[in-house]
Amino acid sequence: MKIAVLCIGTELTRGELVDTNGPWLARALGDQGHTVDEIVSVPDEPAPIALALRHLAGRFPAIVATGGLGPTTDDVTRDAVAEVARVPLERDPDQLEAIRRRLAARGRSLTESNARQADIPRGACVLPNAHGTAPGFSVSIGASRAFFLPGVPREMRAMFTAHAGPALGTAQDGATDQVVLRTWGMPESAVCDALGGLEAAHGVTLAYQVHMPDLDVKVRARAGTCAEASVRARTAADEARRRLGPHVVFGEGQDELGAVVGSLLVERGLSLALAESCTGGLVATMLTDHPGASRFFAGGVVSYANEVKHRLLGVAREELEQWGAVSERVARAMAEGARRRFAVDLALALTGIAGPEGGSEEKPVGLVYIALAGAGSVDCERHVFPGNRSEVRLRAAYAGLAQVRRTVLEHSAGTTGDAHHES
Ligand code: ATP
Ligand code: MG
Repeated sequence: MKIAVLCIGTELTRGELVDTNGPWLARALGDQGHTVDEIVSVPDEPAPIALALRHLAGRFPAIVATGGLGPTTDDVTRDAVAEVARVPLERDPDQLEAIRRRLAARGRSLTESNARQADIPRGACVLPNAHGTAPGFSVSIGASRAFFLPGVPREMRAMFTAHAGPALGTAQDGATDQVVLRTWGMPESAVCDALGGLEAAHGVTLAYQVHMPDLDVKVRARAGTCAEASVRARTAADEARRRLGPHVVFGEGQDELGAVVGSLLVERGLSLALAESCTGGLVATMLTDHPGASRFFAGGVVSYANEVKHRLLGVAREELEQWGAVSERVARAMAEGARRRFAVDLALALTGIAGPEGGSEEKPVGLVYIALAGAGSVDCERHVFPGNRSEVRLRAAYAGLAQVRRTVLEHSAGTTGDAHHES
């Protein structure tokens, strides 16, 4: 069913509060197979609320609204609903008693403001509030069924889950499912081009969501049943994975690159150390954000000063002088030094210019060398990342982790069954 969400609150339209109820409801309704086609915000004023309700009720079989059910004079949702539904407000004795009891439990007595919360449009179905005083309700507005829930997110969520959600049920007009592919390293437009024709061939829709610096590709399918939608989304997602390749698609759903790389290293029995300069520990954070990192991660050095690169990692002073700290030679030496010092299978080193100062024609801001030392070889990549300081650092950290992943995957693809890394 197509459903509209109406968020009522002057804080929303004045820009003092970011709406989280709308997105939460859209997701919850989506999980029940419904489609939210409109999320509208209006201030706590009777006229805009009434106008929005009339407008939405004419176009949607169901509306879920939140906010403005409290005891204060700025909470006018119930008055606006009564006007639009052309019914009077009536004080519900059961709700009045529930409010009285709730207040008494906190040592407070009932006031007229509190009592107003028991005013319900005649003919409405009351939705009890397990976490607050204001009950919600549902009414018919023309051919549309409208649910009114409190604005407080915790109360709204509980009331939706207990009452409005079950009343709306699962969609009878088909089901939707989606597979989210987590990608990195290919620009949005190139990903879009690579997936050309997929929608028509598989009867799915594609949506793209950038979370700097990674990109989610959402493969959505709609079909008669959940099982059909899920098979359709899965088949199209598998095709998308093939087209984009294993280095671009690093996971699905909520997968994080740091966790994916960690699992891969654990699976292959490989240990890793880091020598970070421009990323200042970001790669270590991305790896240790996930539990179980000690199974593969030995540690790292944040070697910002040249002297630290020399003393802790054994980078030769002459190399630092001759090539500069941001150079392929130094990146390689940092990686080799970290691999030796930590006695690990793999060591990743990053050295670069995050900006905003410190760039030159020859070595611009965004220039980062990333070296990975393994048994017998060191690979070094040169990148020039766009963006401000934090974007350069984040892109570099992702590139480093992606380099580890690619190297390990390529290496195991080239060997037979035995997953060991000696070469
Ligand atoms: P109350 O009894 O607290 O007055 P209410 O149903 O009248 O409940 P509102 O006054 O509209 O709810 O909102 C109460 C609080 O809930 C707001 O101050 C805000 O912190 C939060 N809130 C309301 N609407 C939203 C929303 N759409 N997204 C996120 N938070 C919200
Ligand atoms: Mg309020």
